[in-house]
Amino acid sequence: MTYSKANYKTDKFLKLGSQNSKMGGILDKLIAFEKENQIYNETLWGRFIEIFTYPSDVGDRGWRCEYWGKMMRGAASVYAYTHDEELYSVLRKAVTGLLDVAEEDGRISSYSRDREFDGWDMWGRKYIMLGLQYFCEVCREQELIDRCHIEMCRQLDYIIAHIGRGKKPITSASRHWLGANSCSVLEPVVRLYNVTGKKEYKDFADYIVDVCYGNEAELNIFKAALEDKLDPHQYCEQKAYETMSCFEGLMEYYRLTGEEKHLKACLNFARRVLESEISVIGCCGCTHELFDNTRLSQVDPQKDGIMQETCVSVTWMKFCGQLLRLTGDYRYADAIEQTFFNAFLGAANFPLKPFTHIVSGRGITEHIEIRGVLPFDSYSPLRAGRRGKQIGGMKLDPKGTFYGCCACIAPMGIGTLTETALLCSENGLVINSYMNGYLTADGVRFDIESGYPYDGKIKITVNGEGEFELALRIPAWSKETSLKVNGEAVTVEVGYTKINRKWTNGDVIELCLDDSVYPILPPEDSPCKDNYIALRKGAIVLALDKRISDPRAKVLLPESGKLEFCELECDALPYYNLSLGVKQKDGSILHVVDYASAGTTFDNESECAAWLER
Ligand SMILES: [Zn+2]
Repeated sequence: MTYSKANYKTDKFLKLGSQNSKMGGILDKLIAFEKENQIYNETLWGRFIEIFTYPSDVGDRGWRCEYWGKMMRGAASVYAYTHDEELYSVLRKAVTGLLDVAEEDGRISSYSRDREFDGWDMWGRKYIMLGLQYFCEVCREQELIDRCHIEMCRQLDYIIAHIGRGKKPITSASRHWLGANSCSVLEPVVRLYNVTGKKEYKDFADYIVDVCYGNEAELNIFKAALEDKLDPHQYCEQKAYETMSCFEGLMEYYRLTGEEKHLKACLNFARRVLESEISVIGCCGCTHELFDNTRLSQVDPQKDGIMQETCVSVTWMKFCGQLLRLTGDYRYADAIEQTFFNAFLGAANFPLKPFTHIVSGRGITEHIEIRGVLPFDSYSPLRAGRRGKQIGGMKLDPKGTFYGCCACIAPMGIGTLTETALLCSENGLVINSYMNGYLTADGVRFDIESGYPYDGKIKITVNGEGEFELALRIPAWSKETSLKVNGEAVTVEVGYTKINRKWTNGDVIELCLDDSVYPILPPEDSPCKDNYIALRKGAIVLALDKRISDPRAKVLLPESGKLEFCELECDALPYYNLSLGVKQKDGSILHVVDYASAGTTFDNESECAAWLER
């Protein structure tokens, strides 16, 4: 097996060195959509580079500086899957264009020197380094890789000259979230140390880790995770995306140092997010973008503002991808899938509906209404509500164009699914995704025929030969599973079922996952536990959409067991992945669609709900 550069001795599962896989259906649609509307757009890259040619973020202490790196990180990971030459040349140009705007001493910032290391400046510098690092992983030209490394070092040298002990504390390099946003620079710092071995970078990483353990300032998120007494919504700050980003850095730091306490902190944090924060669609936070004990708040009718941010969905998936590789624990692959096919896919603005954004308040005396199209939506409703409510992280530029944080992070969502679909372990290969298409590794190709994730029947034909262990992920949601290899039944269990044999050309694996429709009830300790119910078919959450069923009407669904259902034609929706009629207690049929296909007019015409009132 050939391993990619980003693999570590600490990891149970490793990324394959070169991917050559194709997963059709919804993934094809997403990648074609990206091609048309985002990562191939040279004008858009140009706009994101221009941000660094003047102090564009100083006026509102903004985060325009995150756009370039955030989109580059995702775009490079999409390229790792598609190997499309056209995309490579667009990204190459976007990278050299960025490097060209570095100042003489290496500084790349959207803040002026007299106002730097405030607001989101450090956050933006983090994304520049991350974007370059992800590009370097797919870059084929050593000269360009070397140039990226030189520029990243100049960036980081400049940061270290100004931030640290005896200088400006990193927690003071922002006025938000106790400085957690700034501390998340840890991840690219460790990664750059791995490449360069420069002692100053390790010292700087040590310093940030020390800060986040509460040894320098109020920010003590790593300490809270290690002690394991609080849920994330009880931490000193609760911003979901920024906090998870710091833990991504801690994971890299653990890989570097091998110190068990850092792994323990990451795993405690992840477990508590899973237990207390993940909603039915796989995102966190019903109080705008904060951890807020989503387990309960997702069925709290008082939480009626924006919720379930797309940046949180993608960062959670990415974090889970790291945890999956680190631990080999299938639950993180289950979690990626839950988020991907529900919260994340539902945010894709396939019909390209324009969003309206009203700018008012701080520094702006009049209301300005802006209309424009972004490829991804920012907030997802859980109880009856609409999509397209607000553009998260929206920032204007002087030409009147704008962009948003959630649109920029979206390509990384795609990359997370594709890079974890097939992994390798010490003994062989691990299949996590069963989407129709093929997965290949070292001369063996697995041809997959399926309607997954909307249908549970999966046929895998082996093309190639070799003796190795094949681990198949059996998701926890599959209550009844059957597995056959060349017609012979194999015992399965939830988690990874491992088949160790000499594989020969034409071997057939038939996997049947439980795709029955089941009800989901709110947690027992929820004050609203009798008021709501949700439905799932496999990993797919089913939803009401005003175009087919009133999302505010009370339903009469059975509370347990498998629910009877049939497929329904649906002319009212221009596209959908599932359209089902589910039989209610009174014999009536409730028309539902998959959550990602609900609400897709992005306005009140298609109000939708994942939690149904009862
Ligand atoms: Zn966002």
